This record gives sequence, C-alpha cells and structure tokens, in this order.
Amino acid sequence: MSAIASTELVRQQNSLRMLSALRRHGNLSHTDLAELTGLSSGTVSAITAELERSQLIHRSEQQAASGRGRPRVLFQPNSGFGYVAVVVISSDAVQYSLVDFTGRLMDRFGEGRSSTSSDVFAREILNGLVRLAGRSKIAPGDILHVSISSKGLVDPATATLVWSPVLGSGHVDFRTVLAPHFRAQIYLYNETLLVADALWRQRRESAGESASLAALSLGHSIGLGVARGIGEGKAEVTAPNFGHMLHVPGGALCRCGARGCVEAYCGFYGILRAAFEVPTNTIPAKFVPLPEVEKIAASARAGNRMAVLAFRQAGLALGSGLSRLFSLYGPMPIIVTGPGTRFLDLISASMREGMEQTSVVRMGGLPQITIEPDEQTLVFDGHMGLALSRLDGDIVMSGMAVPQIS
Ligand SMILES: [Zn+2]
Repeated sequence: MSAIASTELVRQQNSLRMLSALRRHGNLSHTDLAELTGLSSGTVSAITAELERSQLIHRSEQQAASGRGRPRVLFQPNSGFGYVAVVVISSDAVQYSLVDFTGRLMDRFGEGRSSTSSDVFAREILNGLVRLAGRSKIAPGDILHVSISSKGLVDPATATLVWSPVLGSGHVDFRTVLAPHFRAQIYLYNETLLVADALWRQRRESAGESASLAALSLGHSIGLGVARGIGEGKAEVTAPNFGHMLHVPGGALCRCGARGCVEAYCGFYGILRAAFEVPTNTIPAKFVPLPEVEKIAASARAGNRMAVLAFRQAGLALGSGLSRLFSLYGPMPIIVTGPGTRFLDLISASMREGMEQTSVVRMGGLPQITIEPDEQTLVFDGHMGLALSRLDGDIVMSGMAVPQIS
C-alpha cells in the first residue's frame, strides 16, 4: 500500500472511531473525545473540524455551572444528516422503523402481510418505506440506509430474498425494487444472523468476551446464527441453513418441499402434526398461531402422551442438529430465543439427549444454554449495530459526502 493510501486509511479509521464514540456517548468535549478514542489532541482537532465541515457533527456551547469562564464546547452527531430505515419481515407482519443519525428511534409501525406474490410483496415494502418517510415529513431521498431482515435464505451480496417461509422460492430482489426510489444503500440479512451479531456485541461490550456463540430461534420456523470470534474483537457471523438441514432421510415433509428437515420436526407445524398424529407427508400449515401450540403444550403438561411425544421429537431434532454443529465448529454456548422458548420445559431434556449423541459433547460436557425470550429487541439491536457502522463506513469512504446509489 502506498504511503498516501495508508495515511488516508488511518484518517478514515480515526473518523469512524470518533463518530462511533459520539453516537454512543452523546455530547462530548474535545478532551472526552481524546480520552475515549485514544487519539492525540491534534488528531481530534483535525477530525472534528473535518466532520463539522461535512455536517456529520455539530457543536454546542455549555456555560460553566459557576456562570464564569469560557463555555465548554461539546460535539454531537448531526441528527438530521440522514436516516436509517429498518424493515423486519416476519411470517404474518412487516415492521418499519425510522432512526436518525444519532441512533434515536423516531417512528415505528407494523402492517399485516397477506401477499404470497413476490412482486406484490416487493411493492408493499416500497410503499411502506415511502409512508415511513412521509410520517416523519422527510423526503425518501433523506433515507441513506435501508436495513431489511427476514427468516429464510438470503443472498446478502445482492440483497435478494431467495427462499422464505411465506413466499417460498419466489425471489425478491430488494435492491432492484428499492434503489430507484431512495438514495440509500440497501442491505438484507437473515434474522437469526442479526440476533447472533447483537448477542456477540453485547457480550463483547459487557464482559469483554469474544468467544464464539450460536443463537437458536424457535418458532414457526427454526433459525440459527453463529458468531465465531476471529480475533481483534471481531467476529465472523453466519446463518447456516440449520432448519433445512437433514434430520431423518426420507422423513417428514418440510415446508421447503424436502423430506426429513430439522424444521419438519421442531417448527410449530411439525409439533402440531405430530401431536394430532397427522401423516408426516401432509403439506405443512402455512402458519400456526401461537395459541394452538400453547394448547398442545398444556395438554403435554397434563400428561397427554401424543403431545408429550410431539415435543420430545422436536427436542431430539434440535439436539441432534446442534450436535452436528459442534462436530463441525467445536462446542459453543447456545442462546435460545423466539416464541418457542416458552416450551423449553417440554423440549430441553430430549434436546440434551440429542446433543449428547456426539463425542464432542460426551467428552467435553454440555455447552451452556441460556434463554433470551425477547427476540424482536435482539433483531433490532442487530440491525442498528450493523446499519450505523456500515452507514458511517459508506460516508467516510466516499470522502464525507452523502453516499450515492450503488
Ligand atoms: Zn426444509
């Protein structure tokens, strides 16, 4: 790398550190900034001047408490520089959130979804985003970053939803649909990848831990996100297609059309099918409302044999799936989330039994399993962690100007 290129890279990294410190702590003085970022006073002066010129941050003056002496100069991110839109797609609804440049949530609303056509669905998302901008009286062009998540298979490189529980294999190419209407960069993530990323960041910040972990989402569908520490406080986060990994060759029919997937045994529709002794080649229900599964759980807790077996079978599928994960990547703590966490009392014994099928667990002991029921907050935290750092990166790399459509 040439000397000029490496100086430019250092300048960009320092700008990103300053923006991130200001967003995390709010109002900061020159001295605070130098302390928090570890940068020299001269570097802090040069970068704050540049960030101010680009209108990414602004300054305010605070009179000393005594009312005498020079006022303190405090810096803060410019909330109106640009906005982030977050779109969370779930089986039966879509939630839209708008966040300003300081990271503050400005607006949120949800809409039911009914369309099973990918073209109609893409237009619904476009209309939702236009409404999101309109409700806060900003122009769609002021949204600089759109962060979308869904369950299922996504192609992050092209922001295309490849397979989802509701639309099946009807592809949705979000970048093509949305880019002409926004100045924004469009990103698409698997939902459980965001959960794993949020949990990993939380643990790194609260306990300085950067060990690997896996997030397991239980509900109508099954998701897995794996965050593997790669050193220097960084993680590689992936969402393997765990729910559609083979559990029983030629086994129960899955929503994806294959037979014997993990999800066909432990997704809500798999539990429903087993509890009512419906043939396993029956086409799975599109969506099973939570109260239906609650009824089966109540019946299992009252000792109903088929209901007990349905949950037991679900736990075995999850446990043996996890045992394969440990064989490939080594044991790691599991954090269970999603609406299915309320049935863990019925699942955990057989889940442990499934995990113990691998020698890694038999020799090294069971990995720690914890429950984080509030999946929606983790998904949103995952969006925010990635969206703001990527937005800052896009702005700083483009020379502090508002990024253009890719
Ligand atoms: Zn499947």
